[in-house]
Amino acid sequence: QPVVAVVGRPNVGKSTLVNRIIGRRQAVVEDVPGVTRDRVPYDAQWNGRAFTVVDTGGWEPDAKDRAAAIAAQAETAVVTADVVLFVVDAMVGSTDVDEAAVKMLRRSAKPVILVANKADNNSIEMEATSLWSLGLGEPFPVSALHGRGSGDLLDAILAALPEAPAIVENRPRGPRRVALVGRPNVGKSSLLNRFSGEERAVVDSVAGTTVDPVDSLVEIGGQTWQLVDTAGLRKRVGKASGTEYYASLRTAGAIEAAEVAVVLLDSSEPISEQDQRILSMVTESGRALVIAFNKWDLVDADRRYYLDKEIDRELRRIPWALRLNLSAMTGRAVDKLAPALNKALASWETRVPTAQLNQWLTALVQATPHPVRGGRAPRILFATQAGVAPPRFVLFTTGPLDAGYQRFVERKLREEFGYEGSPIEISVRPRK
Ligand code: GDP
Repeated sequence: QPVVAVVGRPNVGKSTLVNRIIGRRQAVVEDVPGVTRDRVPYDAQWNGRAFTVVDTGGWEPDAKDRAAAIAAQAETAVVTADVVLFVVDAMVGSTDVDEAAVKMLRRSAKPVILVANKADNNSIEMEATSLWSLGLGEPFPVSALHGRGSGDLLDAILAALPEAPAIVENRPRGPRRVALVGRPNVGKSSLLNRFSGEERAVVDSVAGTTVDPVDSLVEIGGQTWQLVDTAGLRKRVGKASGTEYYASLRTAGAIEAAEVAVVLLDSSEPISEQDQRILSMVTESGRALVIAFNKWDLVDADRRYYLDKEIDRELRRIPWALRLNLSAMTGRAVDKLAPALNKALASWETRVPTAQLNQWLTALVQATPHPVRGGRAPRILFATQAGVAPPRFVLFTTGPLDAGYQRFVERKLREEFGYEGSPIEISVRPRK
C-alpha cells in the first residue's frame, strides 16, 4: 500500500488535514507546542484507491535550531513515503522554516504536493499563489477545516501515487477451493467417501478447459466446497515407474489451485520425508493449512506417546497449522473438518487496520527493542499490511533486521492477531 507523508510546521493544520483525508473524525491530536506526537499512520481511500497517510507530528519544541528540527522530521517521513504533502499556512505565507524544509524535500527527489492550508475563502486562496516562490510548483489551496478544495487535493494525491498493483482481493462468490493431499494410502479416498460427493463436475467457463473436469463439488459440514483435482483422488493413477514424480506434480498443482489444503497424515506410521515434502509444498505456496492425522482409531496410548514427541519435532516449523485427529474409517472428528477449514480461511484473509497494527508495534519495540549488534540497532519506523491471502506485512526500518528479531516480531504478531491455520509473510524495507 502506498504511503503519503504529511509534513509541515506546527499549527499549519496537519492533523486537521489528515482527518479530512481519512474522512472521519478521529482522535488525531492537534499540534500543540510542547506536545510531541509520533508518526502515526492511518488508512485512507479515495476513488477506490487505498493508501496510508502518515501524520508526522513529531516536533521538538525545545530544539535549539527549529529549521534543523523540521528538516530532520521531514527527512524521516520522506524516506518511507511515496508522496509527500508539504503543508504551509496560507494565511501566514512561507517562512524561513518552510524554506529550510523545502531544501530537504527537493533533495529527496520524492513527489511533493504543496498544500496551502487555511484557505478558507477566495481572498486567502488568491494570496496562496505567492507560494509558487517556494519552488514546489502549483500550491493546492485547501481548507482542511471546512473541506474546501480537498477533493482536488485528493485527486492530485492519486495522480502522484505509484501505479496500482493489479491485485484483485475481492474473490468471486462461490464455493471455497480445497485440496486434499497426502502420500498414497494415508486415506484420502476413504475420507472423500465420507462426504456426499456430488459428481456435479465444475466446468470451467473458459473454452477448451473442459476436457478433464478434475474438480468436483462436495458437501463438507453442510457447506459446499470445491475439491480440486478430485479425479486424482478417485482414479488410481498407475503404479508404474515415475509415478511418484507425477503424483508430486499433481499434488503441487492441486495446492496451487486451492485456497486451503488439507494434508492427510497416517497416524499409525512415522511422519515421513514424503509427508514433509508435501507440507513444505503447502507452506511455500502460501495457502492456508489444516493437518489431519487420519487413522486415529489405530492410535493407542503407547503410540500416542511417541506420536506427540514426533509431532513436536517434525512440525516445529509450522506450529501455526491447524491440527485434527480423525478417522475416515470410524468417522471420528470428521465433522471438525469444515470448522477447521473455515477458521484457516478466515485467518488467511485477516486484515489488521494500519493504526491498530502500529499501536501494537510501537508497544512491542518499546518493550523489546532490536538488540545492538556491532554498534548498530535498527529501528522499525512503522508497518503496513500489504495484502491478504496470506497476510503480508511490510516493516519500514532504518536498516536490516536480525533474522532472530524478525522471527520474534512474527511470533508476537501471531500471539496478538492469531492467524491459526495461515502462513504470514513479513518483509523488511530498510530506508536507503
Ligand atoms: P489414499 O491412497 O490416500 O486414497 O488412501 P485410501 O483411502 O485408499 O486408504 C488406504 C488404506 O487405509 C485403505 O486400506 C483404507 O481402508 C485404510 N484407511 C483409510 N482411513 C482409515 C482410518 O481412518 N482408519 C483405518 N484403520 N484405516 C483407514
